[in-house]
Amino acid sequence: TSTHQPILQVRSLAKAFGGNKVLQDVSFDVQPGEIVGLLGPNGSGKSTLLNTITGFEAIDAGQVLLQGKSIGALPAHRIVSDEGVGRTFQLPSMPTKMSVIEVAMAAATKQHGFWGTLLNSRAARDAEAAARAKATALLDELLLTKVRDLPASALSGGQKKLLGIVCALMGEPRLLMLDEPTAGVHPNLRNDIVSALKRLNEQGMTLVVVEHDMHFIRELCTRCVVLDRGHIVASCAPAELAQNERVLQAYLGG
Ligand code: ADP
Ligand code: MG
Repeated sequence: TSTHQPILQVRSLAKAFGGNKVLQDVSFDVQPGEIVGLLGPNGSGKSTLLNTITGFEAIDAGQVLLQGKSIGALPAHRIVSDEGVGRTFQLPSMPTKMSVIEVAMAAATKQHGFWGTLLNSRAARDAEAAARAKATALLDELLLTKVRDLPASALSGGQKKLLGIVCALMGEPRLLMLDEPTAGVHPNLRNDIVSALKRLNEQGMTLVVVEHDMHFIRELCTRCVVLDRGHIVASCAPAELAQNERVLQAYLGG
């Protein structure tokens, strides 16, 4: 009979690109502490759903609530820095000149900006030291210590995914949304990503993960939400996916 406030509520969300109705009447909740898998065939709207929730794309209709507060009209940088929502990208792009640790440090949300840096103020130096310490610890956690001083653009596709996770974690999100974190990642690294995400979840972070790898999903997710052509067709435990008629239809093109 307890009434937990969901950490995320998506209400009748709609998004079209021109005449292409990519998301239609999408509603689902995420409870604090869950690890929700967001599944669906290619083109079903998964990345667009992450983009609209996190403010990278405008919403046409509907609502996004974070712990009851509407964030649907906020710009992406405010959703990240003020509301504590982290996200990673399906195809991370990295600046060519910055080193791995510099990219991670630049993702710190508490920065002292132009004047602090110009005046080399105490507060700016403290913030930089804190960002460096946090980046160092996260790079270690995500197995990037060895490449810390290389140009970020020199990383493999999988390592860029790991650095994307580090960058999202620099903002200390309460809700972290990951877009295909293991796609293109060496199989040996996948288990490490699963373990890292489990540890974050045990520390209290709520996760939404777009993923195709069923082994990864069964290992990690407490529940799965399935998109098919812009509609949510199922919300069930990973073990129930294979028996779900509408999930099979989505993947077999029924
Ligand atoms: P998924 O991540 O599930 O593979 P996407 O959300 O990337 O699906 O894409 C869903 C649909 O939206 C596709 O038809 C895609 O072409 C279209 N789409 C996505 N982003 C854009 C955009 N920025 N402009 C136009 N169409 C887009
Ligand atoms: Mg996608």
